[in-house]
Amino acid sequence: MTEEAEPRPYRAGPGSAPAEPSPAVDFHHVPVLLQETLEELCLCPGAHVLDCTLGGGGHTSAILERLDGTGLVTSLDVDERALRAATRRVGERPNFRAFQVNFGQIGQSPWPELLGPQDAILMDLGVSSPQLDVGERGFSIKRDGPLDMRMDARLERTAADVVNFSDAQELRRIFFNYGEEPRASRVANELVKQRGLAPLRTTGELVALLERVLGRPRPGKTHPGTRVFQALRIEVNDELGNLRRGLEGAYALLKPGGRLAVMSYHSLEDRMVKRFIADRSGVCRCPRGTPICGCGAVATLRRVGSKALVAGDEELERNPRARSARLRVAERVG
Ligand code: SAH
Repeated sequence: MTEEAEPRPYRAGPGSAPAEPSPAVDFHHVPVLLQETLEELCLCPGAHVLDCTLGGGGHTSAILERLDGTGLVTSLDVDERALRAATRRVGERPNFRAFQVNFGQIGQSPWPELLGPQDAILMDLGVSSPQLDVGERGFSIKRDGPLDMRMDARLERTAADVVNFSDAQELRRIFFNYGEEPRASRVANELVKQRGLAPLRTTGELVALLERVLGRPRPGKTHPGTRVFQALRIEVNDELGNLRRGLEGAYALLKPGGRLAVMSYHSLEDRMVKRFIADRSGVCRCPRGTPICGCGAVATLRRVGSKALVAGDEELERNPRARSARLRVAERVG
């Protein structure tokens, strides 16, 4: 993928992403843990805020409202459809700009210079409702569509490429590591058998195979193939690699006293965020019983709150997608 030497703020133009496939699909995403996020980011007038995941623009709009025309909000997304819909929704404002970039790159030139030091940084990980709801994107286990799953249409490798061209061992690794799927080997072997007859092209074909191997969905239960779908999505978008690089990049941009808020939706992400904060919180890592600390642990982040914040009953009723959300917050101290 080639980035321009001098990235320009995103502007929807005639050459931008195609319209949504169905006019009935409104690009609508209900922001998760919105009030909690706004509180935890401690937004003061004039703040510089980076929203790494613009999505439907819900958090960005609320942040702009809080700043009331002051400061500067920069919002990023890899998905041009999200950028197009959200920048239209937010509208042109002197204190708002958006870029099409993967947050995994914000630590690399030219982004640190271009973005500048930040008072608050937000990451609301994963996919948005419109990405899930449009079958054509291939993310949904419930809707038939091509096996795509790319958040960024500029990526070359789709989920179809992963299932049709990875060897059985690689597939097993993906399903086990990224989906924590206990029957990863069986799924991988069945896939290899099936694609020997004909390559898999649609999510429906994959779902049929998964139901054969893992069992049929039961009412009120998560679909048995959900872990495999999650694993493929993580692989296609290198979600964990980007999160690791994104956290480093965000941390480097935070001003002293600046806040980082990260919302994750599955345990692999949440573990990475928790560990990232813990590793910079100055906890001594000397072997137990060492009389004098020799590891030189220095705190550069302070964990805010002792546990991850989760949605309350009222929000869960309004927005079932908040179910797995965990918000972790840290403050830059050094
Ligand atoms: N907070 C938003 C919703 C965000 S949904 C709102 O309130 O509307 C998550 C968004 O993050 C999606 O649009 C997805 O395309 C984007 N995204 C996921 N990983 C990304 C990455 N590594 N870099 C940039 N954007 C990413």
